[in-house]
Amino acid sequence: MEQSAIDALSTNKVASQKHLIDGNAIASSDGGTMDVISPIDGSKLTTIARGTAEDMDRAIASAREAFVDGRWKDQPPAARKRVMHKWADLIEQNALELAVLGARDNGTEIAMALKAEPMSAAATIRYYGEAIDKKYGEIAPTAKDVLGMVTQEPVGVVGAIIPWNFPLMIGTWKIGPALAVGNSVVLKPAETASLTLIRLAELALEAGLPQGVLNVVTGEGGVVGEALGLSMDVDVLAFTGSGATGRRLLEYSARSNLKRVYLELGGKSPHIVFNEADDLAHIAKAVAGGIFRNSGQVCVAGSRLLVQDDIKEDFVNAVVKATTQMTPGNPLQLETKIGAVNSSNQLQQNLQAVAIATEDGGNVVFGGKRCLADTGGFYMEPTIVDGVKVSDRLFQKEVFGPVLSVTSFKDEQEAIMLANSTDYGLASGVWTSNISRAHRMIKSIRAGVVHVNTYGGADVTVPLGGVGQSGNGSDKSLHAIEKYTNLKTAWIQL
Ligand code: ADP
Repeated sequence: MEQSAIDALSTNKVASQKHLIDGNAIASSDGGTMDVISPIDGSKLTTIARGTAEDMDRAIASAREAFVDGRWKDQPPAARKRVMHKWADLIEQNALELAVLGARDNGTEIAMALKAEPMSAAATIRYYGEAIDKKYGEIAPTAKDVLGMVTQEPVGVVGAIIPWNFPLMIGTWKIGPALAVGNSVVLKPAETASLTLIRLAELALEAGLPQGVLNVVTGEGGVVGEALGLSMDVDVLAFTGSGATGRRLLEYSARSNLKRVYLELGGKSPHIVFNEADDLAHIAKAVAGGIFRNSGQVCVAGSRLLVQDDIKEDFVNAVVKATTQMTPGNPLQLETKIGAVNSSNQLQQNLQAVAIATEDGGNVVFGGKRCLADTGGFYMEPTIVDGVKVSDRLFQKEVFGPVLSVTSFKDEQEAIMLANSTDYGLASGVWTSNISRAHRMIKSIRAGVVHVNTYGGADVTVPLGGVGQSGNGSDKSLHAIEKYTNLKTAWIQL
């Protein structure tokens, strides 16, 4: 990738965006818009439609109509697969444009954005497109005179509420399997990262996805998100975001039609380093990358370093050294390792978390402050807080920013206890050269994912889902398809 190609796209004027409903760009019913502020320099990038409940209802009605008349679900599997594959190709062909647009909108460093956003979205759409004509139904092991036939049917209308950290990656984790099995979707992007998802839906139309099958409504969570959650005509709600919003969605479901709600709510993932692990410099680099990439705005970020006490001092020094190589900078420069924090609001929350950690007795050994303020953008130094106790708020509460806590342990048992001492259970990492210990840790850590001798990078072939207050239901892999289908039993007397 050439820097000049990025530079050429990075000053393009971004047109004002509208909703995409029934295949058309539609303004809000009351004409409302909201400014899109680029975290790179705090400037206004463009505007998006500030949706109303009426807009959301219109999108849901369009999705329902598309589902009922079968314009998508009743197409032969091979035809749907062709559309999904063409869509994946188009995403790839437009990858640089999408990555630059996304980085300007949400601040993710471009090298990571390219890989994690368009390229991963294309891979996900292709994977689920490929699955369309590979999934079979079941014949039950019944008595001889009956036939028990079990099939999976699309649920109908799926609502997907997407966060701002990786909109294309997380968005396609939901709409990929939902569309592959024939559902219609209404997508609600985050206020501060809507632009690439609108473009993604335009590319779907270009690939041949019929109008109304994928609709995008932008605006405030508390308005259009709420209308989606409370709708009597949405069958499944798939969400990634904060615990507070997740709880609201469950309430919306209870207050409306009992729609199924799948929640991915982040975590406080432990990254555990044992003293027998070799090459501390390499591990330190992985630990720093595991928390600081995308300014820590990663749901699986390894935000709690747990390190065995006899190597603690050396290892923390190694992490500090690795972190000095990760200076925040302009997200549109290829060499930038850490881009901008998504919004001014998020930056304030991150700084607040550092203040709280200090109040609780933590020791800031690196970073801790806002930086590059003269750009007008929102940047934060990667921050390491040592001496964090299990009762400290930094140990217990997700920051969703570039803040790593350090806690030491004396043996495997204590490492497991500490790892499992939060309400969350999304991801984790273990560094050990002892294979038996690796397997014991895999079994003992209460989390959806355990990385061993690596961190992050798990692709679409494996599920990602949390336990405890990290949520329920998994994104990715063929298992995700279950979320967007109902089982149908046919019991036939022979
Ligand atoms: P964060 O605090 O990290 O921004 P949120 O959970 O607020 O996380 O945001 C994730 C997504 O949830 C966004 O698309 C946002 O608009 C949406 N959202 C926020 N509040 C609500 C709500 N009350 N109902 C439905 N969706 C919401």
